[in-house]
Parts: sequence; C-alpha cells; structure tokens
Amino acid sequence: MQLAKRVQTLTPSTTLAITAKAKALKDSGHDVIGLGAGEPDFNTPEYIIEAAERAMRSGLTRYTPSGGILPLREAIARKMLKDQGIDYDADQVVVTTGAKHALYTLFQVLLNPGDEVIVPAPYWVSYPEQIKLAEGEPVFVLGKEANQFKLTPEQLEQAITEKTRAVIINSPSNPTGMMYTRDELMALGKVCIKHNIIIVSDEIYEKLIYTDQPHVSIASLSEQLKKQTVIINGVSKSHAMTGWRIGYAVGRKTIIKAMTNLCSHSTSNPTTISQYAALAAYTHEEEEITQMVASFNERLAYTYDLLTRVPGMTCVKPHGAFYLFPNVEKAIDMCGFSDVEEFSTALLEEEQVAVIPGTGFGAPKNIRISYVIKKSQLEDAMIRMTRFIERHA
Ligand code: PLP
Repeated sequence: MQLAKRVQTLTPSTTLAITAKAKALKDSGHDVIGLGAGEPDFNTPEYIIEAAERAMRSGLTRYTPSGGILPLREAIARKMLKDQGIDYDADQVVVTTGAKHALYTLFQVLLNPGDEVIVPAPYWVSYPEQIKLAEGEPVFVLGKEANQFKLTPEQLEQAITEKTRAVIINSPSNPTGMMYTRDELMALGKVCIKHNIIIVSDEIYEKLIYTDQPHVSIASLSEQLKKQTVIINGVSKSHAMTGWRIGYAVGRKTIIKAMTNLCSHSTSNPTTISQYAALAAYTHEEEEITQMVASFNERLAYTYDLLTRVPGMTCVKPHGAFYLFPNVEKAIDMCGFSDVEEFSTALLEEEQVAVIPGTGFGAPKNIRISYVIKKSQLEDAMIRMTRFIERHA
C-alpha cells in the first residue's frame, strides 16, 4: 500500500530500535546490559502519584482546555520566574503531551515548506524528523569535539541563509551532556537577533546538572532574546515522569496561541490526570530532584573514570543530562569494524552490551552511553567493552 510521502522518508528512532533489539535478547534469556535508556531509573515521587490519585477520585477525569489547565500554566510561569528570572503570563504557556509534542507542534506552526532550521550536531534524534514532517529543512552544523561539540557564533553565522527560520539550542544536551555558558549564549543570541531568527531552546535537562556552572536560559539574557525564544521543557526528566507525558512551550503569545489551536485539533488536551500530577510536581519542594541529581552525579563520576580506561575511547566530560558520548573512532579502527553501527551491533551480539551508535545523532564517530543504571552493571559493562575491544584488536 502506498503511504503518504511525508512518512516514507521517516527514519525510526535509532534509540528505540537498539532498545528493542536489546529487549528481545533479554527476553530470550541473555544477560543484557542496556546503556541505551533515555529516562531516570527512579520512580515518580510519591507526592506526585498521590496528587494524580486525588485528581481521579475527585472526578478530574474530563477534558481540559487544549493548552492545559490554568493552575498548571500559572505554576509553569512562576517556575520560569523563580528559576530563570523570566516573567511570562499564563497565556504564554501551552502544556503538551510531553516535550516531544511541544517541539513537534512548534515546528508545525513555525515552518513553511523549505524553511531552514539550524540543528547543531550532535543532536537529539527527533529534531530532524520533526522539522521534515513540517516540510522544513534541517541544516546540520557539527560542533567540534575540542569545543565540547558546542555551536560557535561563527558557525551559526555561516549557516544562516535567507531561508533560515530558527535554530535549536539544547542545553544541557542530549547526547553530549554539554551546557552553554552565559557568555556563549549571549554571543549566539547576538547573531540570532541580527538575523531575526527564532531560538528553540530545549531545556528538558535543566535540572540535571553536575557542575557549579548554573543553567542559563537564552531567553533570560535580554528582552529581545525573550521575544525571539520559545522555551521547551517538561517534567519527564526532572521529576522522573517520562510516562506521564507532560511537556510545555513558553514564548510569544502569537506562537503559543497557534500551538494551542493546533493541539485542540490533534490531542484536545494533554492527559488531565497527568496535568494535576505535574501541578503537584511544580508546587512542591524539590528534595526528590536533589536526591536524584546526587545519585546521577555519583554514577557519572564513577562511569567516566572507568570509561577513560577503556582502550580506543576518549570522552568529553559532560556537565549535565545523563549520557556520556565517547569518541570510539580509534576503537573501531583497532578492531577493524567498518563503522560505528557495525561496532555497536557486534558489541550487543557478542557481549550483550547495548549502546546507541552516534549515527542517529549526527556523530558517526561516537556512541551514547546512558549511566542511569546500577553501578555494578556499569562496572560490568566497562569490563565487557574492554574485553570486546581487546579481543578484536
Ligand atoms: N528533548 C530532548 C533533548 C530529549 O532528550 C527528550 C527525551 O528524550 C525530549 C526532548 C522529549 O521529552 P518528553 O519525554 O517530555 O517528550
């Protein structure tokens, strides 16, 4: 059967593909260590679950306004003021079915056919596909590893054409974990102002930071940058709520209104119960987040130390998120594999260690390792990887 052109070129998420393969091996009795996870290994905090239960028991189980319930939008606006010092009204917030859906909807309302969006690489796998689904053109700019993969103002300037509509800033980044400084954002922001391009600032990993460097939102740097930026965020990663599917976009009223209209015809509203759960998440002390971040930080230090001893791998130390993104070019060479896909497949088949090849992130010399699993498993994974490389070298 002939399907619509727009889905014919869609590539399935590489993250999900390798996770599925690892799961199939596990189900057939293999001792698989999955380093592919994109979510915290914590349960959603109890007070959030209780809030959801209360909502259900008190009949809050019906449709809500398409852009989300007012108390949640107000709570998000308060959060923006508290965390970033940016003043937004509740009608500058649209609540969506996860941050992924906020991004999807944003590209749908921003892009006309042929409009370009600058996507700094390595990038999160869904950006290019979502841009293409909106008939836009992703323009990739590969960050230098020596510069922690960060986009420079010079690179941004060079990539801009008369068709450029937007640029994505994802800080802290998936997959690299790097985070832009205030000065770096200011320099990038100047270029965006000069060319009047929209900044899509994906801040989903904002709370997961392991340095003294604070997270800065580019929208907080000036009134003009606030106008040109749409912030994307959500509770998935910060509150261990990936399955609840609550994200949001915050920005200019015209954009938010168009997104809300579009949501009214696609999802009607994000799940009502989850919205009340997210409201509890944003009106409670953040003790659970602090504990979770401390645990991730400890595992990052532990894994980073072990990883630097694996032959043929080098790794930039991340600032945030929960991924390591080592360069494995030398290991691939030493082992005689043709590329990172072959390397990752053999590693899974021979040693039952599931990593995500960097190809899907626009970085074919790297692999992504998620360290949000038990320390004993992390240690075992590094032993297996070392054994694998030494055997093939
Ligand atoms: N943005 C980035 C960079 C991500 O890594 C993810 C999830 O993996 C998302 C957005 C989507 O988050 P959500 O689960 O809220 O849709």
